[in-house]
Amino acid sequence: MNQLTPFQSNFLPPNLADPRLKRRDYRMVIDGQSRDAASGDVVVRTSPGHLGKEVGAWPAASSDDVKSAIAAARTAFDHGPWPRMSGGERSALMHRVAELILRNVDELALIECLEVGKPIAQARGEIGFCAELWRYAAGQAQGLTGDTHNAIGENRLGLVLREPVGVVGIITPWNFPFIIASERVPWAIGAGCTVVVKPSEFTSGTTIRMAELAMEAGIPPGVFNVVTGYGPVAGQVLAEDDRVDMVAFTGSVRVGTRLAEIAARTVKRVGLELGGKGPQVVFDDADLDAAADGIAYGVYHNGGQCCISGSRLIVQNGIRDALLARLLEISRRVKFGDPLNEATRFGPMISAAHCDKVAGHVQKGMDEGAEVLLGGGAIAQDLGFYHSPTVFGRVNPDMSIAQEEIFGPVLSVLGFDTADQAVALANGTDFGLSASVWSRDLERAIQTTRRIRAGRCWINSVIDGTPEMPIGGYKRSGLGRELGKYGFDEYCQFKSLHMTLGSAPRWFA
Ligand code: NAD
Repeated sequence: MNQLTPFQSNFLPPNLADPRLKRRDYRMVIDGQSRDAASGDVVVRTSPGHLGKEVGAWPAASSDDVKSAIAAARTAFDHGPWPRMSGGERSALMHRVAELILRNVDELALIECLEVGKPIAQARGEIGFCAELWRYAAGQAQGLTGDTHNAIGENRLGLVLREPVGVVGIITPWNFPFIIASERVPWAIGAGCTVVVKPSEFTSGTTIRMAELAMEAGIPPGVFNVVTGYGPVAGQVLAEDDRVDMVAFTGSVRVGTRLAEIAARTVKRVGLELGGKGPQVVFDDADLDAAADGIAYGVYHNGGQCCISGSRLIVQNGIRDALLARLLEISRRVKFGDPLNEATRFGPMISAAHCDKVAGHVQKGMDEGAEVLLGGGAIAQDLGFYHSPTVFGRVNPDMSIAQEEIFGPVLSVLGFDTADQAVALANGTDFGLSASVWSRDLERAIQTTRRIRAGRCWINSVIDGTPEMPIGGYKRSGLGRELGKYGFDEYCQFKSLHMTLGSAPRWFA
């Protein structure tokens, strides 16, 4: 599997002597204080793009450490100032977090580059986007309202009170640590909740920094806690503990299902943002240059380690060859490799095990008889966990590479003749997170999109997002919606308040 591909000249080898490769040591944030694990144990992170180079270390929390964070969040919710402040006061402090994020873009981007293997230029853009997420949520936090019912009878008035759900446990994955935390924390605390965040054991640095910036901004102790360490120890407690009112989980279907089962025992609210197998449907009237560029972006962005990757190209047969010629030409040119290089478009896989898993999927595709048009394996494994851009042609819809989330730079190409066939293929997996449709005929594109069961759809674009618009999954891609005004509802309870005006109607005489 460790094969060199014909386009290895587009591989930018990492410099293992780069002076930016330094280890940073972090502590958890519990009740406004920096804390080590009671045991003193730590998780050490090495750069996935620079083999063996230590870049971070954070505490390996035990369940007792997590319980102390839950206690802090519970006390801050039940007795602290945060849920009792006006929306305007919360908003002002959250705006300050956004400003501090912007002031620290370079530092935060470097951490994500080294821990995740994210290209440095992409990482800077992502951190800037997170400031926008915080700013939007801060603005909305001031204007959150309930409802009134003024037409339920002359002697009756109804109020619907919006209240925060309580203590929220937020568990995040490794692929977009700062973005995913910024898509949840500001919505939860903006609604008046308090949170305990458990980032991935691979990439915890920027989430800890976010909580430190929140403290610096003046967000009170206990509102935003961060615990670090391994999922089955540090994460699971959040679903099990009675003092947590809700678990918001982003990650794999396997872990999400397990957490939902555990949370069901205490009737906790659960939000799940899980996996995807995004279709990119291209009709024969599409702008093929734009579509080829978008398809390459859709599958190679973040090395394909993206829940909304467009990992299935579903192309109308008449333009298949013309589109593939353009796509392969881009794929041969795409610069991948050293995440510290400004020219890099995608970096390494997150770990050796994940790189092996991606390579295993590719091998299975070959074994099942799919045609490899490009790439096909891990490369430069003496430097980092790199996998080449890989395109499979002539894929059958029942092959594993057409069904399973590979989470690597691997595209599967399927053909169709009619719109009905395209929709059936697009809907033909267990997932329903995102989908793209490429066509110059807007009516056709819109009608096709309406038939696709996915939470986030694009016409003539891919991997687009904005704080105003909701994200979330259909089918096994998840439950609930984040962002926009919908995101606040996830973290709120709605209480009915019925008022009787004048003399109350008598039931018993
Ligand atoms: P993962 O499920 O392995 O881990 C996610 C988080 O859960 C990590 O913090 C991990 O430590 C924790 N965890 C693991 N086992 C646990 C347990 N038993 N109890 C509690 N917590 C536990 O996922 P990953 O490998 O970090 O991320 C990749 C997956 O995330 C992909 O499937 C991807 O599609 C999905 N994802 C979804 C979205 C979305 O918005 N829908 C966004 C990004 C990633």
